[in-house]
Amino acid sequence: MPLRLFNTLSGQLDELVPMDGKTLRMYACGPTVYDYGHIGNFRTFLQIDVLRRFLKRNGTSVFHVMNITDVDDRIIKNAAAAGISIGQYTARFEQAFLEDIEALRVQHPEQLARATEHIPQMVELIQRLAAAGAAYQTEDGSWYFRLASFPEYGKLSKKDLSGMEDGARVDLDEYEKDSARDFALWKAAKPGETFWDTAIGRGRPGWHIECSAMAMEYLGESFDLHAGGEDLMFPHHENEIAQSESATHKPFARHWMHVRFLLVEGRKMSKSEGNFFTLRDLLLKGYKASAIRLALISVPYRHQLNFTFDGLIEATNAIDRLRTFHHRLRNTNWPMGTSYVQAGPEAEVIEAVKTAKTKFHAALSNDLNTAEARAAIFDLVRTINTLADSERLFRSDIAAILDVLRDFDAVFDVLEDNDAEPTRRALEWAAQAGRLGDVAPELLARKSLTDEAIDALVAEREVARKQRNFARADQIRNELAEKGVVIEDSKDGVRWKRK
Ligand code: AMP
Ligand code: ZN
Repeated sequence: MPLRLFNTLSGQLDELVPMDGKTLRMYACGPTVYDYGHIGNFRTFLQIDVLRRFLKRNGTSVFHVMNITDVDDRIIKNAAAAGISIGQYTARFEQAFLEDIEALRVQHPEQLARATEHIPQMVELIQRLAAAGAAYQTEDGSWYFRLASFPEYGKLSKKDLSGMEDGARVDLDEYEKDSARDFALWKAAKPGETFWDTAIGRGRPGWHIECSAMAMEYLGESFDLHAGGEDLMFPHHENEIAQSESATHKPFARHWMHVRFLLVEGRKMSKSEGNFFTLRDLLLKGYKASAIRLALISVPYRHQLNFTFDGLIEATNAIDRLRTFHHRLRNTNWPMGTSYVQAGPEAEVIEAVKTAKTKFHAALSNDLNTAEARAAIFDLVRTINTLADSERLFRSDIAAILDVLRDFDAVFDVLEDNDAEPTRRALEWAAQAGRLGDVAPELLARKSLTDEAIDALVAEREVARKQRNFARADQIRNELAEKGVVIEDSKDGVRWKRK
């Protein structure tokens, strides 16, 4: 079943297939590395991760380019305020971003592209635009895109720009929708600012030209898909189209995907409202990276996501349920054989597996409906648990169920417990950044226990139990519980997990 994805440009669901029949070439606008990434940013990167994983799972190879915007108005301002170079300033936040996406298990794009490493390509593109009459230089040495030269301007965001004032200019990287104006391609150096000495003068690139130049560098003049958060549709993506198509006279990206914004407890996230969260803030509060991942991908990308702490707890519990189920399937000594003769129970399992698989794929193929895809898997978990509880699950059934889980996890990637490492790193960072005061107390207690120490205590408890020293066994259980470690006894053995 091919993936049908909403295309902002055509205004409808279009099949997303590679132009060359082999590799889907896509560009996603990456972070501006002037601060730590917030959960809104990560919602967008995670939804793009869902897309690329689903394509790959369906056998389409992907070549995904993501830029790192390491020069812009805010970066220049913040670096100057800190008295360091923009390179020194951005290196820290780029590193943090890469660590954060790793914590969230966002797959690495095939190509990362830093703006500052592609200045020649941007200059060349501006020269091409100037030659085509679509760019002009002002007295101060800056270059602007001439909006009047591109009558299709507005075709992505569907804005009516007929009232636009010819020749009015804007040189901010970000501006409001009512100010469609000739926008800056190149900003002449202001005293004291970082600049590049180039054939079009001394200065630095505008934000929009970066993405056009880098997309074309790695993907060619026309490619399959361009993605980003909904705020980028106008002016950023509209400007990218204008610049690129004016230079090449070819369609830039065929398909445009925009992820809707995340709200926090129903309101726009903002530092002054106190509802602004970076990934690190949430990890320090004791939430697991996998739960944050699940919470941020479970609402389909075209719906607004209202992020709440209740939602995060729900995601934590859902992951627990899944992992326990997975563990149960693999570690129980299921009865043999009977399913072959008892057509009834086996048929029930086969039916449940088939339904889950079909629904999962149909949901994701339908504009990446992650909510329905997830529900299909949780329905399966419920059905199979019921069958298992009433001894109607057999060894021959297990492989097919595990197969569906593998499929699910190729996209969702939350089954395996990789949560300790991101939390450990966040704590390490908190210590360096003077943020230990923000760490949840249970987390600090937990930090003092390594996996090895827990294993040793669990083993000691087993010995105590065998020796019928239940007082010591209980003492160990309580000690671990206080540090956030839960012991689960079952007929298949003892298992522990961090809460
Ligand atoms: P920035 O680092 O500001 O350039 O943003 C990086 C990505 O995050 C872009 O694709 C933005 O559209 C996206 N983004 C920013 N804020 C939010 C939000 N609240 N919800 C979803 N995506 C967002
Ligand atoms: Zn961009």
